[in-house]
Amino acid sequence: MNWISNFKKIKIKVKKIFKKQPAGQQESDWKSCPQCKKISYLPDLIANSYICDCSFHFDIPPKLRLDNLFDSDYEIIESPGNINPDPLNFEVKDAAREGYKYIDKIKKYRKTTGQQTALMCASGNISNLSAVVVCFNPKFGGGRFGPAENEHFSKAATFAIQKKVDMWIVIYQSSGIDVHSGITGLSSMVKSIIAMKEIKKAGIPTFAIAARAVAGGTYASNFFMHDFIIIESKCVENILFSGKRVTANILKETDQIPDDFGTGPGVMKSGLADITLENRKELKDTIIKLANIILKKEVLKIKNVEEAHENPEDFKKTASTTS
Ligand SMILES: [Zn+2]
Repeated sequence: MNWISNFKKIKIKVKKIFKKQPAGQQESDWKSCPQCKKISYLPDLIANSYICDCSFHFDIPPKLRLDNLFDSDYEIIESPGNINPDPLNFEVKDAAREGYKYIDKIKKYRKTTGQQTALMCASGNISNLSAVVVCFNPKFGGGRFGPAENEHFSKAATFAIQKKVDMWIVIYQSSGIDVHSGITGLSSMVKSIIAMKEIKKAGIPTFAIAARAVAGGTYASNFFMHDFIIIESKCVENILFSGKRVTANILKETDQIPDDFGTGPGVMKSGLADITLENRKELKDTIIKLANIILKKEVLKIKNVEEAHENPEDFKKTASTTS
């Protein structure tokens, strides 16, 4: 045994001691801003939608997001109960670090968030328009998208189609597909694409809100399928498939990665998003305005077709004067 193996043993012991601390159950009353370093009192931040004076946007708990978006009461769409979140019984074995069973991590996420999956899904009214909202929780394994999340997503989508809601809104804060679930996780990409296609086939306007990172398989599958891509604030970054270092390795020296790669402004410049909001307080009004435009347009289209069937001559005259 040499000093290196002794050091590793001590490191594991120290980690175990810190693990015994009751972490994550209670949010501190004070929050430090990573941008301006100001320490803010939590009730003041909550009153200001978790936005610092310097305009930095902290993460909002999904429950508070739903409270802010819906008019009043809303119904939670629970996750299907019979889905195994760890179908591979994945176990991390690492000689240098402490190994763990992945299911234990999931249990920890469930305990700290009170959710069964990384998604919180709900239905209700937003300014009298019916909606289903799906919100990723970054505190649940970085907003992972695995087999359980996929089934939850599909259940919410089926609900939206059956109820013929006016809007489908997904708030993304996701690190991507859950790598611990292997091919079953990857199949979630395809299944979520099918769910999105069915929603679009039902004529429901869809909104993607990038509220934090949107990365990996989530970025590569359902995120860009929405009618509107809204970036919640200028603080949003890491809207990308892979990180800067990995992308630089792929490109080698043939292309230079721009400084704004994966940031809100960079994504806007590439034409991949529609709007960047000044701050998240504008989100509800923006969604309502856009939805009203689309839904009224649809009503007008149907009305025009009906009129054309009832009175073809009048319709031809109107069409010739307006075209
Ligand atoms: Zn700040």
